[in-house]
Amino acid sequence: MSKTSGYDAFWMPFTANRDFKANPRIINRAEGMYLYSDDKRQLLDATAGLWCVNAGHGRKEIGEAMSRQVAELDYTSPFNFGHDIGFEFAERLVQFTPKGLDKVFFTNSGSEAVETALKIALAYQQARGKKGKFKLIGRELGYHGVNFGGISVGGLTTNRKGFGPLLPVDHLDHTLDVTNNAFSKGLPENGVEKAEQLERLIKFHGSDSIAAVIVEPVAGAGGVIMPPKGYLRRLRDICDQHDILLIFDEVITGWGRLGANFAAEAFDVLPDLMTSAKGITSGVVPLGAVFAKDEIYNTINDAAADGSVEFFHGYTCSGHPVACAAGLATLDIYEKEGLLTRGSGDIGTYWQEALHSLKELPGIVDIRNYGLIGAVQFAQQDNGKPIGFDILKKCYAKGVMVRSMENTIALSPPLIIEKQHIDQIVSTLSEVARDIW
Ligand code: PMP
Repeated sequence: MSKTSGYDAFWMPFTANRDFKANPRIINRAEGMYLYSDDKRQLLDATAGLWCVNAGHGRKEIGEAMSRQVAELDYTSPFNFGHDIGFEFAERLVQFTPKGLDKVFFTNSGSEAVETALKIALAYQQARGKKGKFKLIGRELGYHGVNFGGISVGGLTTNRKGFGPLLPVDHLDHTLDVTNNAFSKGLPENGVEKAEQLERLIKFHGSDSIAAVIVEPVAGAGGVIMPPKGYLRRLRDICDQHDILLIFDEVITGWGRLGANFAAEAFDVLPDLMTSAKGITSGVVPLGAVFAKDEIYNTINDAAADGSVEFFHGYTCSGHPVACAAGLATLDIYEKEGLLTRGSGDIGTYWQEALHSLKELPGIVDIRNYGLIGAVQFAQQDNGKPIGFDILKKCYAKGVMVRSMENTIALSPPLIIEKQHIDQIVSTLSEVARDIW
């Protein structure tokens, strides 16, 4: 006899479990731009899952490549053993990364990529004899996954509280400025001076105690916040001046989301370390990665010049052969279909104009976009309760899957999106906004 009633055993992540289980939303099938709920409704996926299904759902090529790989080599230890598909995938990946980020360390998720990047940064400072440089700087409203390093540098208070002491960190202010930048198309004009706060933090802590600064080029989970024009370049310059590493967490901004391979390319700012996950396999299987400059790899390796292990870190499934097969098939799709630059072409322009057409609706205080990412921010209600989740549920009822954060609806569709899908997203949001206000 079954011990549970079907929904009991699964402790769901980032979900109000009891509320969900009283009224579950179950998706059991997906294809192309669409998800299908268990009550046989078709839902347009305006979020690419969680910013990850960049090639669209149900890509058979990826499944077939994985299946062939299972038959060939399902698994072997990545510690002191290798496999061709891992090396092939690594070489192929660094063809896509900005020039200079030519080494890749594999993880299983974005959170693990962040932990790995932070540990590489600390190991690098140790290896070059800068033993006092161990503090990390993050940013308010930043999201860097849910492990201890990630929540330490992260700036979402809900995710940080309740877990005891975290790492020694400090935080820059976030760059959201609805007063001065509302309804900016692309990058906002105002706010470059916020980067100067890094100078203040460096003065306060001393550059000889700071190992690295980590930011999302576009802050995602904190509300889809674009960097002001010149802001990331200024962070880069300040880090260079003070001998501090700059880490871009590109878990959502990589793989075509901004109309380029990575944000580093879109914004022409090269970090020292760059994280990736999600779109690296189009979300089909878990895989994360950290891309590092040669200098960092070489310094850490040189410090163990006697041939011993230079970096005591890694995962059982680092560079898992089946995940690598999925990744290679994903890169083939991206290339063959030109998906990674769609956001900076005609479809990106259509996306921008369609989203901004919502501007005149009641209750909307800001619209933000870049590439194929977007956000519609609604006014704070008089009762102080965030409205985002209500809007999400209303959109779901009307057949469109969106994501909510406080008063903001976040949009990040699969990169295969066409104009008719954009029209459906915009008309649904428009109906819902009119219903509410
Ligand atoms: N960093 C960023 C910027 C993210 O958006 C996310 C996930 N949304 C993560 C890290 C964590 O990735 P994962 O959930 O795969 O651990």
